[in-house]
Amino acid sequence: MNDCLFCKIVAKEFPAEIVYETGRTLAFRDIKPQAPTHVLVIPKAHHADAAALAQADDGLADEVLKSAHEVAVIDGVAEEGYRIVFNTGPAAGQTVFHVHAHVLGGRDLTWPPG
Ligand code: AMP
Ligand code: ZN
Repeated sequence: MNDCLFCKIVAKEFPAEIVYETGRTLAFRDIKPQAPTHVLVIPKAHHADAAALAQADDGLADEVLKSAHEVAVIDGVAEEGYRIVFNTGPAAGQTVFHVHAHVLGGRDLTWPPG
């Protein structure tokens, strides 16, 4: 997956502001934040989208979710509330096809989303 931007971030071949890391996951700030807290949480292994991650069936999806919550704790938004979003597929606006959870918080988030 040499042409995958997020694999390059995992390999430290491309810079990112890392917030949290576990053995199998990495969290870094979104380059174009949509909220005061906007962090992307990824599995270090390449899976294209949430459906592929769910099928990995080795507890990796759990670890991504746990890391997402840990990011909210680190950024101080866990108590007030935050949002975890997996854009899945082009119609949902997915642009990077290495699965990532957006962790958004630090402001009032409207619903429904755009
Ligand atoms: P999505 O549209 O759900 O695929 O989200 C992709 C996200 O990756 C967007 O919010 C981008 O701002 C973000 N992004 C793209 N390139 C980088 C990068 N080099 N470092 C951090 N975030 C990035
Ligand atoms: Zn990748």
